[in-house]
Amino acid sequence: MPIQDKEARKSYNRRYELTHKDAIKKRKHLYYLANRERLLQVSSDYKKTHREIQRESYLRWTRKYKDDVLKHYGNGELACVGCGYSNVDCLTIDHLNNDGYEHRRAEGITGDKIYRWLRKNNYPKGFQTLCMNCQFIKRKTKQTPNLKGRYVLLSEDQSLPEIPRKDIVHIIMERDIVLLQANFKRIEK
Ligand SMILES: [Zn+2]
Repeated sequence: MPIQDKEARKSYNRRYELTHKDAIKKRKHLYYLANRERLLQVSSDYKKTHREIQRESYLRWTRKYKDDVLKHYGNGELACVGCGYSNVDCLTIDHLNNDGYEHRRAEGITGDKIYRWLRKNNYPKGFQTLCMNCQFIKRKTKQTPNLKGRYVLLSEDQSLPEIPRKDIVHIIMERDIVLLQANFKRIEK
């Protein structure tokens, strides 16, 4: 007959657990063997969704940190200070004194951790937001390029205006538009 009183049932269960350890263990094992496939599936599903949730939240936070930091070092704009290019996937943090390698090494910063580091250290001076193209230009010329407003937006047929090859700095293609950066003032086609 089931025990009605809650407390009495609890203490009965406790006593049972203490005196029947082996039997409980055996029953659990038999249950596991009988339901092995299903239990393994449940456990793997849990791990998978849990990992996805963790990854998503990590990416969300990293993305937010990254945008905040890039905007701060882009003088309030989520864009390259050298040319104004604003595709966030191509934006990076540039060390003004070109001591990025030493700085990362000294602080133990790898990859995207630079964004967290800058935020945590209250946005120290000595950094700027540059696109990869401007990073490469700076690496070569040792100067931050000043190319803002020198884009030519081409028409849908993507044909290039007649610009001497030597004056073209770089061409960016994005879906159906082509952005061309040339070594002189803005030209409208
Ligand atoms: Zn740039």
